[in-house]
Amino acid sequence: MNDKYPFVNVPLPYAYNALEPYVSEKTLRLHHDALLAGYIERLNALLDKNPQLQGLSLVELVNLGRTATLLPYATALSLRRNAGGVFNHRLYFDSMSPGAKPPRGELEAKINRGFGSFDSFRAKFTAAAMSVFGSGYAWLVETPHGESSRQGELRIVTSANQDTPSGRALLCVDVWEHSYYLDYFNLRDKYLDGWWNIVCFSNAAARLM
Ligand code: MN
Repeated sequence: MNDKYPFVNVPLPYAYNALEPYVSEKTLRLHHDALLAGYIERLNALLDKNPQLQGLSLVELVNLGRTATLLPYATALSLRRNAGGVFNHRLYFDSMSPGAKPPRGELEAKINRGFGSFDSFRAKFTAAAMSVFGSGYAWLVETPHGESSRQGELRIVTSANQDTPSGRALLCVDVWEHSYYLDYFNLRDKYLDGWWNIVCFSNAAARLM
């Protein structure tokens, strides 16, 4: 994974048609090769002009965009949109795989502890993704060590635009219309129904702290 300036659009870890019929090859090509590529181009252009930020990792850039008060407003906003756009899309594509299996081991235990059961987690996550007004994401996030007495607990959060939530992001679903419009038109619920067949819980488990 290319994690520092200059960022490159690393290929998907699966074939463009590997997520069919849930996410089509056409959608995936557009989403990865055009939309994500655009975020990478704009992030690199921003860093061209701000050499003092070039040594930071993608996560550091995302955190800086979220909290920066020392940067000029336009720089912080562009960082938030474009570092977020790269991080969020990479995690989204990594949250999917063909032939995905349900969570096992520690992740399964944490999901059961946090949400009662897998079915209850799925219902809550789907409701969160449906509740995003306009463009954004739903996330499964682990509370970082040292943040609160709830450290290590899982929670479901949503974000608008290309904002990235704090905490350790394990999984996300992109609910911008470009993620599903070609395949499902405006029917976000149908997209999410299909999406559960390709959620890669083994990748999510590998991100646990
Ligand atoms: Mn997207």
